[in-house]
Amino acid sequence: MGKVLVVVDMQNDFIDGVLGTKEASAILPEAVSRIKAAKEAGYEIVLTMDTHDTNYFSSQESKFVPVAHCVEGEYGWQLNSDIAAVTQGDKVFKKSTFASTRLADYLKSTRCEEVEIIGVCTDICVICNAIIIKTLLPETPVIVNSSCCAGTTKKAHNCALQTMKNCCVKVI
Ligand SMILES: [Zn+2]
Repeated sequence: MGKVLVVVDMQNDFIDGVLGTKEASAILPEAVSRIKAAKEAGYEIVLTMDTHDTNYFSSQESKFVPVAHCVEGEYGWQLNSDIAAVTQGDKVFKKSTFASTRLADYLKSTRCEEVEIIGVCTDICVICNAIIIKTLLPETPVIVNSSCCAGTTKKAHNCALQTMKNCCVKVI
């Protein structure tokens, strides 16, 4: 029941770390205020955290993204401190791939009435989570709040938003 705000991968490595972008840093204040407002409006907040081990270079992902990132326990893996400060005690889904199937299963189990997604990267983990959630919960409105999302590039961000729209995800 109720509404859920999903905060995707707002970790140091994706904001101002090894895979950070100026767009990701730029959305940070907006993302923090969206989390605060959602909490005040009674949303449940859940977070995903990209989580790799020190064997990253033996993964398929490393062949496409040849930059070690989000190694569990390291600084780059940790949530950005501004995000961490407003999500104390909220549920976290660690994942070693782009989307969290456990998160989608959890959302289904809660019978939530609406899911809003924010975070990074629009064209990788935001879109993958949005599509898996929409696939598992076709009758639940899934919203991507684009002002609180950043892609690997501006173009990739916009392409991903269009693809999500095509898949019945509401982009605001
Ligand atoms: Zn990764």
